[in-house]
Amino acid sequence: MAKVILKNLNKTYPNGFISVKNVCLEISDGEFVVFHGPSGCGKSTILRMIGGVEDITSGEIYLGNDLLNDILPRDRHLAMAFPHYALYPHLNVFENIALGLRLRNFPYNIINSRVKEAAGFFEISSLLDNRIRDLNDLEKQRVALSKAVVFHPKVLLVDEDFAQDDDIRHFEMVQDILKINKELGITVLYVTNDGDEALALHKKIIYMENGEITEIKEAEPEED
Ligand code: ADP
Ligand code: MG
Repeated sequence: MAKVILKNLNKTYPNGFISVKNVCLEISDGEFVVFHGPSGCGKSTILRMIGGVEDITSGEIYLGNDLLNDILPRDRHLAMAFPHYALYPHLNVFENIALGLRLRNFPYNIINSRVKEAAGFFEISSLLDNRIRDLNDLEKQRVALSKAVVFHPKVLLVDEDFAQDDDIRHFEMVQDILKINKELGITVLYVTNDGDEALALHKKIIYMENGEITEIKEAEPEED
């Protein structure tokens, strides 16, 4: 089960600043949850603690029955969507998607099938032999998301700096992330400080202020 549980989560930075205060939250398996609040309210800090790239001051984070606190980021069954692609321009699309699996010594046949599966999912199968420098931004974004899903993560963490500079690409990225959630069943934690976007997604919204959860708004049914 990919239920995410935050229990009395706190973060005090080394300079004494308290960034996250006693956050308690349960996110169901397969849910798409939006974190929204003004800049500086602690959204990224929470995501980074879940991802394991920021120390937890106190409290617990569980994924299913597993206490994540002391598990290395790479072993957490989570993926983070990186805003700046983190792609290698001199490698082709296949090799970029395969790289993380190769570094973890996945067998060749699994790498091959996972890369093809991800490329098919994002409709970039015809680009597998192309070099990164020959892709447009949307294609690069899909390669970056492919790199995340080949690990079959249980949870995808998306911070708001993803494609913030380009409205069309941002929209496409959101559609891809909704599809990852809906069709692959991956739980998504999505951060935005855009209130209109938070509402337009029609998902559960966790409102935050000054490091605390102030309100939780349940998902509204979507109009078709
Ligand atoms: P958000 O993502 O909601 O904009 P952050 O989680 O990035 O907010 O930051 C929450 C608060 O913690 C902010 O006030 C920020 O200035 C502060 N902060 C972030 N990183 C550090 C750090 N390394 N040291 C001290 N304070 C920090
Ligand atoms: Mg942030």
